[in-house]
Amino acid sequence: MTKNFIIYGYPGAGKTTQIEMLKKSGFRFFHVAVGKLLREIAADDTPLGRKVKDSMASGELVDEDFVLRLVKDTLRTADRNLPIIFDGYPRSMNQIRGMEEICREYGLDIPTLVCLKITKEEAVRRLTDRRICSVCKENFSFTELPDKEKCLKCGGKLIQREDDKPEAIESRFDLFDLQFGVIRHHYQSLGKYVEIDGMKSEDEVQEKIISLVRPI
Ligand code: AMP
Repeated sequence: MTKNFIIYGYPGAGKTTQIEMLKKSGFRFFHVAVGKLLREIAADDTPLGRKVKDSMASGELVDEDFVLRLVKDTLRTADRNLPIIFDGYPRSMNQIRGMEEICREYGLDIPTLVCLKITKEEAVRRLTDRRICSVCKENFSFTELPDKEKCLKCGGKLIQREDDKPEAIESRFDLFDLQFGVIRHHYQSLGKYVEIDGMKSEDEVQEKIISLVRPI
């Protein structure tokens, strides 16, 4: 059975960056990016879009039943020969139960949780520095940008994510701290918990991730 993984960690730990690096390295996998899927839904000016947008802007979790259905629908299209990498999911015991039920139903391996550990101070620094292109959704570091307004890739307007603003950052951290202990305990008890020092350079973190996800 193909081994699956969850890339987990504080907001700002580098989950998306590392997953994008994995894609560029040529490693093939099925990416379940719940935050990205939700941002696409939130961009729609519909009652559902507005509801999702409001939850996200305040740093709260979006309705768990809705997210479960979203994940289930997404996995239905997964190529069973490729490893699945979950990004930003699951974030609670409830979501873990839901995901494991889907894995059993679809005959998928229960994923290993790979936790990128960074300090809260570093997470705040990275999130407040993050800018995102309103068009192509690429992430950038504000301090490293030559032009603070325009996307380096497509020229689109750069914006700060609503949930990267200080009020929302605090609730996202509180939520993470609240869930982390039980989530870690669950995966440790399954023998499926790995920790990586996320304070190391992007390349060093990537090397560790590759050594885990690439079958020998
Ligand atoms: P992310 O891009 O992973 O930081 O997620 C951004 C926001 O999307 C979070 O602050 C939540 O509001 C929402 N979100 C992401 N993943 C989940 C999830 N597994 N369950 C519920 N809401 C989520």
